[in-house]
Amino acid sequence: MSLEVVDIHVFYGDSYILQGISLEVREGEIVCLLGRNGAGKTTTLRGIVGYAPPRRGEIRFRGKVISGRQVHEIVRAGIGYVPEDRRIFPGLTVEENLEVAVLPERPGRKPWTPERIFEEFPLLERLRKKRGGELSGGEQQLLAIARALVGNPALLLLDEPCEGLAPVVVEFLGEVISGLKSEMPILLAEQNARFALSVADRGYVIEKGRVQCEGPVERLREDREVQDRYLAV
Ligand code: ATP
Repeated sequence: MSLEVVDIHVFYGDSYILQGISLEVREGEIVCLLGRNGAGKTTTLRGIVGYAPPRRGEIRFRGKVISGRQVHEIVRAGIGYVPEDRRIFPGLTVEENLEVAVLPERPGRKPWTPERIFEEFPLLERLRKKRGGELSGGEQQLLAIARALVGNPALLLLDEPCEGLAPVVVEFLGEVISGLKSEMPILLAEQNARFALSVADRGYVIEKGRVQCEGPVERLREDREVQDRYLAV
């Protein structure tokens, strides 16, 4: 098991946002979190990585309790986080954006170095000397993912990687994300249910800070409510 989130409750001030979320991510799988704007997807990821620590409940990563620990400790423990707004350093080049994010490699795994990134993603190789601020949205998203990868994570959290991107870019990112599955499990928060269900193995639908339903993507795709709410054209 990679990640176990057990009944977490998260507040922002007096606002009761996550009202008991439980989920699991196993080794070798991509899991998606679906839900409308404001449902609590981002807060779930922020809860896991420590920016929105749960007031109740427990989070275990590879068998160890991580809830209550600091963000930098959780990242060092092996959780890579790509936030919704990407947080690329606009004044640094692509290469520099990667260099500042390198963390020690993980024993038994092929390390992610900036050089490996350039080999696996020729698009970033071509942009190597460009500044982050000069990149397109899709290029920035790829760089944000690459920056998490050089941290050599054992689990990757992606928050709405496709937001605001053109369909062909979304398709490209889908291939990138699917290609990473053999390297580490992924938890993907997405409003774009069609996209999420096409890359993930299992999913959770979140509504008002609770898990509404869950299951393999094949089953979610067949679910009447999921179809009406999230897949209707
Ligand atoms: P989105 O697609 O907009 O990211 P989401 O499903 O990820 O949606 P969250 O961002 O987790 O939803 O937000 C859940 C709820 O928490 C919303 O009602 C939002 O208004 C509220 N919220 C989010 N951040 C804060 C904050 N910093 N302070 C107070 N309330 C917040």
